[in-house]
Amino acid sequence: MKIAIDGPAASGKSTLGEALARQLNYLYFDTGVMYRAITLAAIQRQIDLHDEIALTALAQQATIEVTPPSVNDGRQYTVWLDGVDVTWLLREPRIDVNVSIPSTYPGVREEMVRQQRWIADKGNVVMVGRDIGTVVLPDADLKIYLDATVEERAMRRHQESLRRGEISDYLSVLSAMRQRDLLDSSRESSPLQPALDAVIIDSTGRTSASIIAEVNQIIINRRAYVGMAASDSADDGDKTS
Ligand code: C5P
Repeated sequence: MKIAIDGPAASGKSTLGEALARQLNYLYFDTGVMYRAITLAAIQRQIDLHDEIALTALAQQATIEVTPPSVNDGRQYTVWLDGVDVTWLLREPRIDVNVSIPSTYPGVREEMVRQQRWIADKGNVVMVGRDIGTVVLPDADLKIYLDATVEERAMRRHQESLRRGEISDYLSVLSAMRQRDLLDSSRESSPLQPALDAVIIDSTGRTSASIIAEVNQIIINRRAYVGMAASDSADDGDKTS
């Protein structure tokens, strides 16, 4: 089974995705880290983020690996960029404000999607991102699109940074998030939008526990429906044989 979770920044995708993957014993994969890693690689190598050809070549050359946490410091996973642990570097504001630029390039996306499909082909997966239900896994068994107001999402990110002991200014986070929303949803290549068959959930003012419970119920209902359909077709087979 493949579960696709899409939505804007801080809509609750990773909390939901990780919880579902843990409960179902599926692989959890957050595709945002791949775009973040390419952005970091470009900054570290002083490549102009507006140089589409260079960024596309970089996406094809860089080795991004995501493994279970290598350190017990609250991380969900460890991200390796060319063999170096970059997990926390990917969460720095310089990545937040720039990541949507390389994400607009079709060549970068093509390479990321190729790698993401290869990962999903290995088995059961909960994959989280912006274009999973629409482009990466259009045949996913369940597609969830999580949303929330930009003010609430910015507040969540601001509080996360404060909890990590970082300096954060709510209004700057809000303005960066508005900018990222705009770029992600207006780009030509795979813009952020719900798949036609996605279940849309607004997480504004709701706890993650209630969202997880709602999605669990959807999974239970779908499994019951698929089970009923399978036993109906087995009955049909019995009648015709
Ligand atoms: O989910 P996260 O905030 O880590 O994603 C960072 C950025 O990566 C997004 O703002 C978007 O520009 C890009 N992204 C994307 N497609 C995905 C996942 C992330 O374009 N599937």
